[in-house]
Formats: sequence, structure tokens, C-alpha cells
Amino acid sequence: MNCMLVGVRDRYILIDAGLMFPDFSDLGMQKILPDTGALAAWKDKIEALIITHAHEDHIGALPWVLPALDPKTPVYASGFPMQLIKRRLQEYGLWDAKRMHTFRMRDRFQLGPFECEPIRVTHSIPDCCGLILRSDEGNIVHTGDWKIDESPVDGQTFDRSVFEQIGKEGVALMMSDSTNVLTPGRTKSERGVRSLLGHKVEGHNHKGRVIATMFASNLHRIGSAKAAADAAGRKLCFIGMSLETYLEAAHKEGIAPFSPRELISPAQMHEANPDEVMLVTTGSQGEDRAQLPLAARQASRQFKLTENDLVLYSAKIIPGNDNKVMTMMNSISGLGAKVCMDRGLHTSGHAYRDELEEILQIVKPQHFLPVHGEYAFLTEHAELAQEAGVRSTSVIRNGQMLGVASRRNGKTLSSGSMAHLGTASLQLLYNDGNNGTGNGSEMALDERTTLATDGIVIVAVDVFRPTSVMVQATGGEVASNRGQQLMGKVRITTRGMWVDEGRMLAQLHKMSEAAVAALPSESSLAAVEERVGREIRRGCRQYNQKTPEVIVIAHEYDARAGAAANAAAVRKADAQTARTQGAQPKGSSRPGPKGNQKLAPDAEQLPQQVLIERELANPRSKPRAGSNTEYP
Ligand SMILES: [Zn+2]
Repeated sequence: MNCMLVGVRDRYILIDAGLMFPDFSDLGMQKILPDTGALAAWKDKIEALIITHAHEDHIGALPWVLPALDPKTPVYASGFPMQLIKRRLQEYGLWDAKRMHTFRMRDRFQLGPFECEPIRVTHSIPDCCGLILRSDEGNIVHTGDWKIDESPVDGQTFDRSVFEQIGKEGVALMMSDSTNVLTPGRTKSERGVRSLLGHKVEGHNHKGRVIATMFASNLHRIGSAKAAADAAGRKLCFIGMSLETYLEAAHKEGIAPFSPRELISPAQMHEANPDEVMLVTTGSQGEDRAQLPLAARQASRQFKLTENDLVLYSAKIIPGNDNKVMTMMNSISGLGAKVCMDRGLHTSGHAYRDELEEILQIVKPQHFLPVHGEYAFLTEHAELAQEAGVRSTSVIRNGQMLGVASRRNGKTLSSGSMAHLGTASLQLLYNDGNNGTGNGSEMALDERTTLATDGIVIVAVDVFRPTSVMVQATGGEVASNRGQQLMGKVRITTRGMWVDEGRMLAQLHKMSEAAVAALPSESSLAAVEERVGREIRRGCRQYNQKTPEVIVIAHEYDARAGAAANAAAVRKADAQTARTQGAQPKGSSRPGPKGNQKLAPDAEQLPQQVLIERELANPRSKPRAGSNTEYP
């Protein structure tokens, strides 16, 4: 994650508070967060937090990182990120205006041990910065996320001159974005996307609606959609909450590409002529609950796709989402809409190899540390730096600490290589999208995987212990209790399992009952649960080589609850008999199969054995209160 401590001796600043998005294997998790425990242990040494830009992988962990820091530690960001941070922290009840400081590019201010100067870089969201950190021990350059856009649509160009200037001043260490180091050449300008988008929208004139999907945070692109809509005489409509969030934040900061008031509402969009509207939607990654994937499944309440729609895919498929995205696009196509996935409808916000090399050549740092990318990319970027003439490069993993010990002169740190100073043992934290946050074991990641792949078996066992005297249900015959074994009523339910049309359940049922019957009558409930659990696991392995989660809950058989249920059943049966045979005077005895003999004596007077057999004969009997097991 982007969450890095940089310091001089024992005084540090924290750069960014980012999160990662989990992949499919982290079931039910929505965010991966930095180790806030480790940050808390360092909080006395952390003098400030600075944010480079407003992407989630740079600000998303703030609601967890801020409480880990000292309550007075200041937070610095430029205007647009600060608007989004404010909104987010207010949601979490964590906004504290006194701590928050907004800077402008090229401002110089003290940040812990450094004099900090944020510098303008271009990227796929407005108002991004790199950082120059000057200290008596040498200068550090952190690029932030960047590309060189020579003609950005907001006119805020990449500040190449400041890189040249700091290069001349001397840079001890540079850290640079490695995301696209494997891609040769240079990124294309956002302006190129703007013109193609305009072209595509114009090409659909008088043919119906245009729908474009893009990242909500990419306000440059959103601005291009508006420009395309304007040129084609269409009104723009947002479908997806986060689109409004980013535009509002930019509007408050005075950098929005257009006013939110120029948008039409979904209701107005439905009223309008399809030739005169254009939709921008979220869901470019096929996310389950986002609007375009919902519409593709015909499940969106906001809009329905029609065969006159043109759907423009103006985003990148993030690796890992390929299947989801293609499934979505296939469904859209299947609904008759025209789909366009022209690669010119997107450009990356991260520099390609030639741009990375150019900046290395301009800055000529003494040491180079690649950041922001997979480990393989970092290694490749370090090699690129070596080729560009940087002698000392290093690659570190999460938790590793890198530093230099001695200085040669006032502007450079060390003539030798940087050294690994140790590794902090960090753990990833997970958040489930709500209140649940914890490490892998606290969030039960292993259990989640088992549940997803092997399913779950839940077994309820009502344990009946034979008393010294047993009354046979058939006729009041009294016999001494010869058997010393338990009896159990077993109910089994499964989720997420193949049960072979019930045959597997029947086998598990037989095995569990046999397991209970084999136990001595004085066995504890824990022993019953353990024994039945073992049998169920064995049965699942035998039947289908599965190792599901198994939960066994054993209860002492509760005679009174059983009796009440039984009495109710008897009363119901009586009422039915009364209806079919005509009204009977209250309290009169009813004729039974053997004449006047009482068939259903008061249940409370029945011996337990009888009650159990009645319950066993009634498979629809309800679970007793207090049971947290769900029955099918
Ligand atoms: Zn970014």
C-alpha cells in the first residue's frame, strides 16, 4: 500500500494513507489496510502526514490511519484531495479542522525534519503532486503517481522545470512510480481521448442514447464526456453516486470541468429524447453493485439498456477483472446495444518506460528507490535506473526499512549503497465494508474460504438420556432400563454442498445417530458434539472428498418444551376431529380405535420416551427457542 514513513534520524513524516482492494480470494473483504498497530507504535516519531493525491490507494485508509496517530499530528493535502478527505472523515466522525492544512503547489513549508515543496505532476485525477523534501542531510524527491501529459485537458501541465531545478540542486534519493515500467514508449495525452470520445458520440447522432462508463475519479475524462455531449447537443446524466461525489468536491474547490447544475437527473433523462441525452455510469470493472453491470443484468432501477444505445468503454480493465468485464460487455451486447471498446478511449495515468527514464535522466539522483507497483515491476524499474546511470538502487518489500548512515557532503547522504536496516513485521488488516476490521484471522479468512469451497454442515442433536424406568409408548408396560446407551434426535442441514439428492444427508444422518448410540449414557454434551462432528467430517470425506465447516450443537432433551409442542399438536388434532365429527360437548371423551380408551392423555403426564418418539415421528417439529441453528 502507499503508506510510507520517511525521516531523518528519529523524526518522520508519513506519505499517504492508502488502501488496496482485495482480489477474489479475500472473500467478503472490501479493503486491505496498512498495519495501524505498527503506525501507532511509531506515532511519537511521526510529525506529519502528507497526501499526494486523492486516489483511494492514497487516501482510502485515512479513517483507520488517523486514529492510530497522535491526535495533534497535522495532515497536509492540496485543495481537491482535502475536499474529498473532509467528506470522508465527516462520514466517519473524524474530521478535525485544526489538524488539516491545505497547500498550493510550490508552497514551501516545514514538515517534520524536512522543508517540503509540493510540485505539480499530471495523473488521472486533478490536483496531484510530487514532493521535494529538503533537509540538512540531503534532498529527497518523491514523484507521487505521475505521467507526463504535454497537453492536459485542465491546462495544469507537468512541472518539468522544477525537476530540472532540483536535479541541479542535487538529489540524494528519488522514489518514483513503477506501475507501467514494462510498457515501452510514452503515454498518450488525455486530450487524444477527448477528441476520440467526441468523435464516437457524434457518430451516434440521431441513433439513440450514448452511455459511457469511466472511473468516477477521472474528472478530466468526465469533462471530456461533457464536452462530447455539448458538441452533439446532448444533456449529460450521471448514473452512480461516486460520480457526483468527485464532481461536487471539484466544484467546491473551483476546479470542476463543469457545474453539477448542468447535469440532468435520471428522471429528466427518461423524459428526454434518447438522441438528446448522454449517460456517464460507474461499473467499468464489472463491480457487482455498480450501475452498468446492474443494467447489463437488467437489474438497474436507474436505467435500462436498449438496442439503440451506444456503450463506450472509456476505462482500463484492471488485471483480475477481465472475466467480469467481458461478461458484462457480452450481456450488454446481447441486449442489442452497440458496444465500443476502442483502446483510444482510455489512456493511463502512470508514466510509461520512456517517461520514467526521462525523469531519471533529469533528476540524476544519487540513490533510487522504485515505489508503487508489483515487486517484479519495482525490480525492473531499479534496472532501468541503473541503465540511466544511477549507481545505487534498492528494492524493498512491505515492512522493510532502508537507510543510509553517513554523509559525504551537505547535499548527499552516503557514497555507498543504501542499506536494509531491518524489517518491521507488519500484518495486513482487512475491512468488510462496514464496521468489521481486523487481521486475517480476526476476519476469519480461512473459514470464509472453506465455506466458499467446501460448504458447511450444521447438526443439531437432541440428547435423550435413558432414565432408570422406561415406559414403552405402546401400552404402559413398565420395564427396567437395560440399555446404558444414549439416544439422539439428529437434524442435519447443509449450505453450499452437493448432497446427491439427499442421499449424502441420509448417510450422514445414519452415521451420526450410530455415533450417539455408541456413547455411554453419562457422556457430556461436549463429548457428543465432538463424536458426531468427527463422524460428519469422516462421512463428507468418504462421500465426496470434501472438508466442510462442521458445527454440531447438542442439547439435553427438554421435556417441558417438547410436552408443550406435543400438547399443541394434540389440541389441533382434536379440533380437526371435532370438526369432521360434528360439535362435541367440551370435556367429553372421544371414541378411539379401542372404544372409549383415552388416546391422547395430557402431554405433561407422558413419559419422556413417548414424547421423543412423537417428535421423531413429526419431522416438521420446530426448533426450540434458544437454538441458533437454521433448519431447512
Ligand atoms: Zn493515483
